[in-house]
Formats: sequence, C-alpha cells, structure tokens
Amino acid sequence: MRYILLLFFLTSLFSKEFDFNLKVLKIAPNTYFVEGKKEYFSQNNGGDIANSSFIVSNDGVLVIDTGSSYIYGKQLLKEIRKITNKPIKYVINTHHHPDHFLGNQAFRGAIIMASKYTKDYISKHGDEYITNLVNIVQYAMKDTEVLAPNKVLNSKYINLGKHKLKILYLNGHTQDDLVLYDQYTGVLFVSDLIFYNRAAATPHANIKQWIKTLNKLKEIPYKLLVSGHGEVSKSKKPIIQMISYLKYLDNILKVSSKKGLGVYEILEIKKPKEFKDIFMLDEEFERSIINLYPKYEDKVE
Ligand SMILES: [Zn+2]
Repeated sequence: MRYILLLFFLTSLFSKEFDFNLKVLKIAPNTYFVEGKKEYFSQNNGGDIANSSFIVSNDGVLVIDTGSSYIYGKQLLKEIRKITNKPIKYVINTHHHPDHFLGNQAFRGAIIMASKYTKDYISKHGDEYITNLVNIVQYAMKDTEVLAPNKVLNSKYINLGKHKLKILYLNGHTQDDLVLYDQYTGVLFVSDLIFYNRAAATPHANIKQWIKTLNKLKEIPYKLLVSGHGEVSKSKKPIIQMISYLKYLDNILKVSSKKGLGVYEILEIKKPKEFKDIFMLDEEFERSIINLYPKYEDKVE
C-alpha cells in the first residue's frame, strides 16, 4: 500500500506542469510587462529570472524575450491570450542568454528575430544552455528544445500598428544587445544592458564598451525604461546605478591587478554602501571577478 501511495505521489508530482504564476503588468498603452525574480536560476523559481514584455496591436502581437523554458513560454502565451486573440506576429530575442530565448518554442509560427550574432550563437550553443539549465532548474525545463530565431533583424524600425519601434544595435553586456525604443509610447526596452536593483551578470561582457553604451542610452528621452532584470522605471536611476556599478567593477579589477592581489583578497574588500540594496550583489560580484580578473591580469604583465 505504501509503495502504491508513493507511486501515486510521484506520478502526480511529475504530471503537473511547473506553475510560474506569471503576473502581467500593463505599463503603457498596449504594452505589458512580466517581471522575473531577482535571483539566480533555481529549482524553486523554475528559471524565471528575466523580464518579458509584449505589445498588442491591431497588426498582431510583438513579444520581447520569451523566458528560460518551453513551459514559461507556454504560460506567457496563455497570459497574452487573456488580453488578445490577435496572432503573435513577432518575437524578439534581445541577446543570446538562455533566460531570454528558451521559451521561443511556445511561439512557433511567429517571425522570431534577433541580430545575426545572436541568431548564430543560439543555433550553435543553445543546446549547451539547456544541458546546463536541466542540471540546475530540472523539472521546469521539461520538454524544452532550442527554437532558434528564423530571421536576422537588421532594419532600423519595426512597424506594428500605431507603434513605431526604433531598433538600436548595441553591445557591452554581450557582443550584440538589441534595444527597442517605442516612439508611440516612449517605452525604452534596454534588455540586459541594464540590471536594475539586481547585480549584473557579466559572463560575456565588455565593461568599457558597456559603459559607453549606457552613456548613449542616457541621451534617449524615454518615458519608461524596461530593463532585462528588475522593475521598470520612469527615471534615469537604473542607468546611473548601472554605470556606477560597472565603473566600480572595472576600477577594483584594475587596482587589484596592479597590486597583484589574488581573487580571494578582492572578494574580501568591503563594497560601497551605495550598492547595499542591490539583490545578488555578493554572488554576481564573485562570478564577475572570477570571470574577468584573468583578462585584467594579462594587461598588467
Ligand atoms: Zn543577459
């Protein structure tokens, strides 16, 4: 009997789909936002750590980033369907990190667009991301397969109903980061060029280039800024915080390499108070130091 109960328990556990409990927020006319958790991938959050957005128009729907799994993508689509039954016309993958494109599978049939670099990177390395995430996130990754973008985005604008979206081809967080500026609503979608109140992930970053890009973003007269991680903001605060953090990171790496410090000595240095409310600060700072320090050490020699 006990054995049967256990079997029943296990079957019910594995047949129930992971529930992301997505909360959709209307942030501007026709514009919706789903915020990811300010955490690292885990079994508990099912990999829901990045933001997704969508714009609804008479011409169809445009989705910006699709989350980190097929199940997430399906549940995002379900939320979109509560608002409109217009077809999903476009999906944009802002860059090649897995929390931004592994939900593509749920949007088969749409024009899935990314920069050439991002499209190629996803086609080549998408499966490696899945293997890695299955190990960390496990159950919520069920049935996830790579659906790479099917169109290279290289135009200056995307027109969608009343919405005219200006496309900016930038870099710094990765080699190719897409930014969309909706001239109808004034919403600026900056992808992972900004992590707001959540420490930045830097595995493919070029810090100097990233700071230059952020200075460009500062000039755009947006009404609302939507970052890849963290809440939306009407102010310039997310850009200022991001520049400040990257400058701190760059400086500590430079100074430490000149002094010949070891990684563990750098990690012991007390961080400035201005960053104290940023989520994941210690974890991401450590990952960044381990990843970036060898490059700074090479420059000194
Ligand atoms: Zn990213």
